[in-house]
Amino acid sequence: MKLKSFKRGIHPKGNKQYTADKPIKELVSTCDATYPLSQHIGAPCEPVVAIGDEVKKGQLIAKATSFVSCNIFSAVSGKVKDIKPVATTSGETVQSIIIENDGKFEEVEGFGKQEDYTKFDRDEILEKIQYAGIVGLGGAGFPTHVKLAPKEPDRIDYLIVNAAECEPYLTSDYRLMLEKGDKLVEGIKILLKLFKNAKCVIGIENNKTDAYKHLVEIIDDEKIECQLLKAKYPQGGERMLIKAITGREINSKMLPADAGTVVVNVASTIACYDAVANNIPLIKRVLTITGDAITNPCNLLVSIGCSHKELLEEAGGFNCNPEKIVSGGPMMGTALFEIDLPVTKTSSSILAFTKDEVAKVPTSACIHCGRCLGACPEKLVPQLMMAASDNSQFDEFEKLHGMECIECGSCTYVCPAKRPLTQSFKYAKREVIKQRKKGEKK
Ligand code: SF4
Ligand code: SF4
Repeated sequence: MKLKSFKRGIHPKGNKQYTADKPIKELVSTCDATYPLSQHIGAPCEPVVAIGDEVKKGQLIAKATSFVSCNIFSAVSGKVKDIKPVATTSGETVQSIIIENDGKFEEVEGFGKQEDYTKFDRDEILEKIQYAGIVGLGGAGFPTHVKLAPKEPDRIDYLIVNAAECEPYLTSDYRLMLEKGDKLVEGIKILLKLFKNAKCVIGIENNKTDAYKHLVEIIDDEKIECQLLKAKYPQGGERMLIKAITGREINSKMLPADAGTVVVNVASTIACYDAVANNIPLIKRVLTITGDAITNPCNLLVSIGCSHKELLEEAGGFNCNPEKIVSGGPMMGTALFEIDLPVTKTSSSILAFTKDEVAKVPTSACIHCGRCLGACPEKLVPQLMMAASDNSQFDEFEKLHGMECIECGSCTYVCPAKRPLTQSFKYAKREVIKQRKKGEKK
């Protein structure tokens, strides 16, 4: 099969060997569960429980406050201990519900009740997915029900399942495809009922050919196919994936639906299956715990709300003093300075590296080598964008199409002068958005 891809991008070392052959293991949490009210893109939720209330596993504890927002459910049974601001992996402090875990995991009525989902119509499917509080589990956190409800659903001709998992080290989607491929395929069939003119393409990088072969073997619907993609970063970026599979292009002012596509992640599709077929809201997710400073790298199915500390203990802790701990992939993740932080819907992994893995090269002046230019999948000019950002020339940053930056980190990765390019673009984009909100920019 001909491999599809996009132009430019980079080829970082995959380092998936630490956990690729580690089956998903369930961690039964014993610690208190903490639920930040904002763990999705959109408006924060509103608590529907008060301090002292008893809650059950699968119970709604915070409800969405607008269409672009997501319900939150408890993964444990116990008592609401507090509702207060809590530090999160993003570095922000967010109002959160804390539940004292009684370790009984008593379920709310109807939890896990199987349904004949083949009989559900479009509205019923969407309603169940919306209620279940599902978001993009690849890390973006965009509410899935919003993605699945474009203005003109009949114009969607591609449902794309993002199975690229292009970030180095991560293997949770890979393991899900191997171990829960049947749920993935059934989940796709459910989602295809929302788009009568669409077919589904599962895009998988060619470093996961056994997952590809497994899915090809079990797919029993002619509207679903698998497409091998060249293993290249950031192949799993929404724009890169759409380009590789359909040849169509979108920019920052467009939605995938403007190109006739809807893109969902592997884990989110399985979560949709559980919501529609089994009445199970989003209360668990799989994380990869890996890196050369981790004693027993693994893939863990964990309760959302449990602590990163608990996950690290399950992985045997650190085998030395780690030089760097990261939440998310090494390219787009955020550095952690403490580990007693709650797992949220968007937590995809914990990476811990020794000094050997974290090369400490001092930043120096740009040598105009052009490598960042050759790496950028958006065909931007990072060295000029950084000069504009450093000098607070945000008009110039926009003229250079800086707002099209997807913050993938490819330019930073290849820069021999170790310039903090991506960091600088995140800052400049935030400033432009602030100015737009104030009405200083159109
Ligand atoms: S971070 Fe932005 S500028 Fe750098 S390579 Fe990615 S898209 Fe291009
Ligand atoms: S890769 Fe780094 S040194 Fe080379 S042009 Fe880009 S910013 Fe300058």
